[in-house]
Amino acid sequence: MTKDQRFGDQMVGDQRLEALLARLAQVVPAQALLTGDAIDPRYQEDRRDRASARPAFVLRPGSTAELAAAMAACHAFHQPLVVQGGRTGLSGAHRIRAGEAVLSLERMTSVEPVRPGATTVLAEAGAPLQRVQEAATEAGQMFGVDIGARGTATIGGNIATNAGGIRVLRYGMFRAQVAGLEVVLADGTILSALKDIAKDNSGYDLNQLFIGCEGTLGIVTRALLRLHPRPVVEANAFLALPSVEAALALLEQLRAEVGGVLSAFEIMLPGAYHGVTRHLGITPPLSTEAPVYVLAEIQAEACAAAAEEVFMTTLMAAIEEGLALDAVVSQSPREFLALWDMRDGCADFVRSLDHVASGDISVPTLRIADFLRDSQAALRQIDPETAFHVFGHMGDGNLHYVFQTPQKEAAMARLLELVAAYGGSVSAEHGIGVDKKPWLHLSRSPEQIATMRLLKAALDPRGILNRGRIFDMDFAAAPMQS
Ligand SMILES: Cc1cc2nc3c(=O)[nH]c(=O)nc-3n(C[C@H](O)[C@H](O)[C@H](O)COP(=O)(O)OP(=O)(O)OC[C@H]3O[C@@H](n4cnc5c(N)ncnc54)[C@H](O)[C@@H]3O)c2cc1C
Repeated sequence: MTKDQRFGDQMVGDQRLEALLARLAQVVPAQALLTGDAIDPRYQEDRRDRASARPAFVLRPGSTAELAAAMAACHAFHQPLVVQGGRTGLSGAHRIRAGEAVLSLERMTSVEPVRPGATTVLAEAGAPLQRVQEAATEAGQMFGVDIGARGTATIGGNIATNAGGIRVLRYGMFRAQVAGLEVVLADGTILSALKDIAKDNSGYDLNQLFIGCEGTLGIVTRALLRLHPRPVVEANAFLALPSVEAALALLEQLRAEVGGVLSAFEIMLPGAYHGVTRHLGITPPLSTEAPVYVLAEIQAEACAAAAEEVFMTTLMAAIEEGLALDAVVSQSPREFLALWDMRDGCADFVRSLDHVASGDISVPTLRIADFLRDSQAALRQIDPETAFHVFGHMGDGNLHYVFQTPQKEAAMARLLELVAAYGGSVSAEHGIGVDKKPWLHLSRSPEQIATMRLLKAALDPRGILNRGRIFDMDFAAAPMQS
């Protein structure tokens, strides 16, 4: 017993690990199993720079069948695993704890060419989001979700976190893009629902369970993803506004005038705007000082080509009415992308700061102005020197609430209490993972959390998949002999 390696309340001996590795070597090829010095430090990478243990071993199957066989073995041996995609997650769910092995989808990266006339694309879970976006573009269509980490974040990770991003206003979150899924359960069972049909009410839609479950209920291996008609008109503008209330009024006007073609409405407070332009070494697109900046975008299909004109007219009217102080409209694809590069750069900018904390929160859109006022006052009561670098997806009420203070724990606790008081969510798009577990109860009721535990116990009774992510739960210890 003394030689045993401890994790959670289980004891797994060296002998058990050796026996499991021998079993795995029988069911997966050599390149799918890394042990000892062959384990690259990349599996311990963490975007938040928090300590990640060395994995017990790394599984990197090349197919669903290999993955299922490996899971059956891990299930038999009660071996806890952490599923990893691109490791760009911001809630620590992919971070390794002592005794855990890694299950990486890095060898399952294929994206099938889009068939003529098809409105879906089939991708393996380890494919980077950008590859799916490119496949859609090559087929003359568009993929609806875009996030700053597109080159590294994977389809499996996007589905497991129900990723949102900059165009949720128009296309919805990742859930809305999923037409079908193939999933492997903790015991190796394969659930395949990849029929390319728009309607299927034959019983429960099990796919929904796995979207946003942060890998706790099953491993996504393949996904059939919806495509959208490629917009023929794209335009964006960057505006300086006199207040958050004015930004909300502008959002309301744009919705009324251009309707569904409004594809993004992103906010930056001055700390984020000045910080990111300094960080990127670029000339700020507007020199006007303002308490709020907004990046708005439309994407329209051919039949909505007049949308660009309406967009411009609405923005001009906003300036005339004093809703906006200043605006710059992109005049070329280069300028269009430059505005988005600035917005994308916010994540790297805030990562470069000391004593920084970031809440990925949402509140009802109509309450954002009051929330910002109250929360800034509350955090300044804790530390009058608190600096705010808030930015985010204002169109769907989601703020990346970034602030700097040496008292960040107390400030974060206060911020999230306020989020709850405003009827918001402590995690709008990044998930709960490990880092946000203490705050889950502020967004979900005891009954909801109990139901989540029931689902976990039903689908992963030994608790081997991403154990301790989202919530903690007791599982029976592994027997000494498997
Ligand atoms: C610069 C930057 C910008 C970002 N912008 C956004 C944004 O706008 N919107 C947004 O929502 N997020 C954003 N994120 C967060 C992150 O990119 C997303 O959460 C992304 O979906 C994670 O994908 P990943 O492949 O890196 O997953 P990982 O970080 O590897 O894992 C994330 C979670 O998914 C699980 N998982 C991974 N693959 C699978 C699988 N195949 N099956 C089951 N579970 C799996 C993991 O176990 C973990 O719980 C951003 C991150 C960065 C660094």
